[in-house]
Amino acid sequence: MKLEKNDIHTQNTSRSFAFELKARDASTRARLGEVHTPHGSFETPVFIPVGTRATVKGLTPEMVEQTGTKIILANTYHLYLRPGHELIGRHGGLHRFMNWPLPILTDSGGFQVYSLGVLRKLTEEGYAFQSHIDGSSHVMTPESCIAIQETLGSDIMMCLDECISYPAERRQVEASLALTIRWAKRCADARRSTSQALFGISQGGVHADLRKRCIEALAEMGFDGYALGGLSVGEPKELLYETVEFSALALPDDKPRYLMGVGTPEDILECVCHGVDMFDCVIPTRNARNGMLFTKKGKLVIKNARYRQDRNPLDDQCRCYTCRNFSRAYLRHLFIAREILAIVLNTIHNITFYATLMKGVREAVRGGTYETFRKAFLDTYQTGSEEEKGC
Ligand SMILES: [Zn+2]
Repeated sequence: MKLEKNDIHTQNTSRSFAFELKARDASTRARLGEVHTPHGSFETPVFIPVGTRATVKGLTPEMVEQTGTKIILANTYHLYLRPGHELIGRHGGLHRFMNWPLPILTDSGGFQVYSLGVLRKLTEEGYAFQSHIDGSSHVMTPESCIAIQETLGSDIMMCLDECISYPAERRQVEASLALTIRWAKRCADARRSTSQALFGISQGGVHADLRKRCIEALAEMGFDGYALGGLSVGEPKELLYETVEFSALALPDDKPRYLMGVGTPEDILECVCHGVDMFDCVIPTRNARNGMLFTKKGKLVIKNARYRQDRNPLDDQCRCYTCRNFSRAYLRHLFIAREILAIVLNTIHNITFYATLMKGVREAVRGGTYETFRKAFLDTYQTGSEEEKGC
């Protein structure tokens, strides 16, 4: 189904950002969209590689671009602490500082502060926390979080939210989502930039009514897009999928939907079915550094002895620089010898694998054949010849 371009701009939305819904799948709720930003456009569903500290570890921006990646994620918390957002601002903003010309999404830092555990103190005002680098004391408020992201100049900013662990008592979840809503309002009020988009983040654990309550409150504030936060924090897979399903049904249809921190190829394929448009996760990059590589036929642990003499590429269907030029035997040697090039070549491949997967997803949604694509992919991926040990 062809849809109208969204051109509604309220006080709270960016003038340079737009989401265009281009097609819907025939038998699932999967959608094909296009996001427009001041640094270019990208189609959705999309996977966003993580470049926490203004670098996708091991790769030059040019290498990242060659994988087919159109948008990367950087982290507000980490860049605020080191080298400092003001320094990045003085160097012309994040795009110029790291020489990445395409869109950047900045995570708010709420999740990083959450994962610091005892080093933080939460009040109505914001988070008081100690730097994981030098122990210095800091306060992150919704207002300062937006000011930092505006100085960084990312294309998509995220609201500061409170992420709680799983399992949690219902009243705790309720209190946390109420705070997240109050903070979202403060973030919306604090924004000055009209060129950067701002996404609201919904909390509410795995409770359908609480997620709905949070999403409705956020939708009333009119954000440029909406994220599902507080997931992939230890809940069982079925609960994650169920929560994504009922949450996506409550989210505004005409704005991008972003599932934060998820996940594996299986997770992505499942959540696309429910209408999620954007994903990010450390899995492809982190696993690449640990020698765990993705192929069409399943996961491959490159250090295993069976690859010692293997002249084949990692994945004979992959067109990445690594697969076009190097054998499994060479990649195993680099990994065992702890050579820097192992990280570079493995990361190129894993990011290309995710970018190619998402391209396949989009083509299938465009053609209305998503379910067939998903089934065929998983059939090969889950029953393929590669081992799954050590992942
Ligand atoms: Zn490859």
